[in-house]
Amino acid sequence: MTLTPSSEENQPLDTLIIGAGISGLTIAHELVIAKNYRILVAEAQDRVGGAITSAKNDEGYLWEEGPNSFQPAPELLRLAVQVGLKDELVLADGKLPRFVFLNGKLNALPMSPPTAITSKILTWGGKIRLALGAIGFARPAMAGEESVDQFFSRILGKQAVERLVAPFISGVYAGDPKRLSAKAAFSKIAKLETYGGLLSGAILSSKERKAQKLNEPNIPKTKAGELGSFRQGIQMLPEAIASKLRETGTAVKQKWTLRSLEKQGDIYISKFDTPSGEETVTSRSVVLTTPAYVTAKLLEDYLPAASQALNEIFYPTVACVVLAYPKSEFAHDMKGFGNLIPRTQGVRTLGTIWSSSLFAGRAPEGWQLLLNFIGGTLDPALAKLSESEIIAAVHADLKKTILRPDTKAEPKAIAVHVWDKAIPQYEIGHLDRLATVEAELQKSQGLYVSANFIGGVALGDCIKRSLQEANKIDAFLK
Ligand SMILES: Cc1cc2nc3c(=O)[nH]c(=O)nc-3n(C[C@H](O)[C@H](O)[C@H](O)COP(=O)(O)OP(=O)(O)OC[C@H]3O[C@@H](n4cnc5c(N)ncnc54)[C@H](O)[C@@H]3O)c2cc1C
Repeated sequence: MTLTPSSEENQPLDTLIIGAGISGLTIAHELVIAKNYRILVAEAQDRVGGAITSAKNDEGYLWEEGPNSFQPAPELLRLAVQVGLKDELVLADGKLPRFVFLNGKLNALPMSPPTAITSKILTWGGKIRLALGAIGFARPAMAGEESVDQFFSRILGKQAVERLVAPFISGVYAGDPKRLSAKAAFSKIAKLETYGGLLSGAILSSKERKAQKLNEPNIPKTKAGELGSFRQGIQMLPEAIASKLRETGTAVKQKWTLRSLEKQGDIYISKFDTPSGEETVTSRSVVLTTPAYVTAKLLEDYLPAASQALNEIFYPTVACVVLAYPKSEFAHDMKGFGNLIPRTQGVRTLGTIWSSSLFAGRAPEGWQLLLNFIGGTLDPALAKLSESEIIAAVHADLKKTILRPDTKAEPKAIAVHVWDKAIPQYEIGHLDRLATVEAELQKSQGLYVSANFIGGVALGDCIKRSLQEANKIDAFLK
């Protein structure tokens, strides 16, 4: 059956967007609301949001199984306001400490220069090495693309990498610092070195950021270190964007899985599996916001070199394990953001977000909600564990890190979500792979690839990149 997107015109759509994660929905919002194009969004699942997965139950728990909070980037805040979520925004206190588990204890990450001096995370030797590197006394880079491990070891020293950088990488990518590319995964930080040292780079770039700060009265003001969510979880954002699109008459189709894509003349012909059988959509342009391995499959015959490059992007398995315990069972006062765990500490869990300490209304009175991450590139064996084995592993780790070691409490298992392919890894060669994809796309005017394997995985980065993509599509359509 052929879908005629608009019976009154019987014309191909301006743009077909594949995927209703934050990338696809942001592009759709910009193209429809700001630029008034005729588009359709097609999503394979029966819900919008992609990786964003908030849930709640009757017992009073509200939790996240994907992204748990976001940096309140101006583009994200502006989008939230545009879709009516200004009053739903919640911000976690920027002063809440973040902890690193080291030598059997939680150590607060320094939040200011004096606390950096007294902090026990690094030895004196480690601190001096880090300070010298940060002000520019570092070996020059070797030839070739540096891994994250090589880049930060060269600049900040091995101890800072083991105790600070690597746990942070677990928290963002669940990745291996020896495989990740510094210039792809941490482009902004890698660029700081060109200012003559990370510290001077950081100072200069924060001045640049302040100068660029949007001065829009309607956008909520945020303070340094604050992290955002919405009252009923991050899922409110994709749902509000989809509602806004539907209000304008734009179709946001669920359970529509793109199976094939071809071009005839200037028009793309896309075939979908849908609950009512096969549907065909014609459009002047198509944006694929699907994960790299899905995009690779869709482009296999059409742009084989792009497909091969996309297939090389690795996604490790990560489990999000949401557990609750009575507050009395903790060895610590649970005022904080959460804790990360260096791989050298004999703990399998990568880190724990203290969810109900961040945002109000996430757990019933007297209970503490935790979101634990386990798995990642360095722990492929996790994929073989059953759900109960994963819970047991996390529980055993929590007894080493934040629970009372003698606790007899069993975890209240709220949810275990195993992401078989969680987060794209920006590994050595990533930028070359993206350059291949970009060059191939030039052969097919009107075809765009825009997803979280380009320009950063964080929600704010996805929104920023999607707005840029929408401008490119606008220029093409004009
Ligand atoms: C476990 C986890 C924790 C994270 N934590 C954070 C965090 O705390 N903070 C933060 O900022 N970021 C975090 N991130 C990263 C961030 O959530 C993602 O990078 C971002 O949500 C990706 O959005 P996207 O739209 O690019 O991709 P996705 O959300 O993956 O959306 C792609 C969509 O395409 C659909 N699709 C796939 N195939 C087809 C097809 N053939 N036809 C139609 N549709 C298709 C999928 O169903 C999906 O909905 C986390 C990610 C994960 C997985």
